[in-house]
Amino acid sequence: MTLRLARPAALAYGGTKHRFATGWYVYVGSALGGLEARVGRHLRTSRVRHWHIDALLANGEVVDVQFMRASQHETRNTKQETDLSECAAAAAVAAWRGAEPVPGFGCSDCKCPTHLFRFPATPTGSLLASGVRPQLDEIFRRLGAHYENHALWDRDPFQALIKCILSLRTQDPVTDAAAERLFAVARTPQQLAGADPAVVEKLIFPVGMFRRKAVGIIEIARQLLARFDGETPAEIDELLTLPGVGRKTANLVRSFAFHLDAICVDTHVHRITNRWGLVRSRTPDETECELREVLPPEYWSPVNAQLVQHGQQICRPIGPRCGGCFLAGLCLYPELLAEEELRRVIPGMPPHPSLSCRPAARPGAAARWRVKAR
Ligand code: SF4
Ligand SMILES: [Zn+2]
Repeated sequence: MTLRLARPAALAYGGTKHRFATGWYVYVGSALGGLEARVGRHLRTSRVRHWHIDALLANGEVVDVQFMRASQHETRNTKQETDLSECAAAAAVAAWRGAEPVPGFGCSDCKCPTHLFRFPATPTGSLLASGVRPQLDEIFRRLGAHYENHALWDRDPFQALIKCILSLRTQDPVTDAAAERLFAVARTPQQLAGADPAVVEKLIFPVGMFRRKAVGIIEIARQLLARFDGETPAEIDELLTLPGVGRKTANLVRSFAFHLDAICVDTHVHRITNRWGLVRSRTPDETECELREVLPPEYWSPVNAQLVQHGQQICRPIGPRCGGCFLAGLCLYPELLAEEELRRVIPGMPPHPSLSCRPAARPGAAARWRVKAR
């Protein structure tokens, strides 16, 4: 359970008063007596203070709840299984980027140093990642068998940069045709810097925001001439200083043109890696940061090229074709389906951080999460 503490709090446990700085706190607990009742109780505002976490919850706002089954194969778990899983989940959270352990919290009946962790920024770790990471070699083997990694093609860095700007909010065939018309007339910074914006507008029409893009790409060409001797820089910090260039565009140039280690995260990569359960992030920029932690570098190049194709053909934004997907059984989207169903029965559950990956609920999926106490 992730909660955000907007103002500092103080509470006593273990015989001492502890101060909690503002930030995000991830608390790991188990729900042997029933997940819906336990989580529902934590989410209610008028709660009786029974555990230490209750006092913290009274001062904070729950922004996310993640679930991990104590056993992948059983719906009835022993207390021992559940305790082991709870501690394993705490150890997984301890390894998330930015985790600061809060010693001695929620671990009075186990040997863990803590079950509570503070994060200075929104945590983007996924509890399901430990189930997906061992599958990554097979996932990328299958992706490689179905889709070409066109990040490996030779490209001119300047043209890759300009084409990426043209592609924003524009269909691929429209972008390809516009880039071809533009590069037939102006294929270098020198040629584009001196071009008339009205002429460039006509060449790139009908890409999205063609008027603004015409002015923007001419300005990029001028700045390349003025600041970089007409060369397109390979450093991300330098690329990001160019007008209209964000992390996605900068990483695309680094990966597709310079063939450097970079992860280009667009809407497809963001949505699909969230559906796999590899990350749990709100934005493509957060996904990029998290993938740097959990995705082995050999997959940084193909991840964009292959997931864009997969996202267009199979793992579509709405109505993914899981039934015919060659990754079914490797990705943990079914766990998100079950989570979405729980959202229907537990009042006040926050939505999955990445709304673009949210599954359509499947009736009955929540039943698999119901755990009976023994
Ligand atoms: S199984 Fe479904 S969610 Fe997973 S990658 Fe395939 S289409 Fe996407
Ligand atoms: Zn523990």
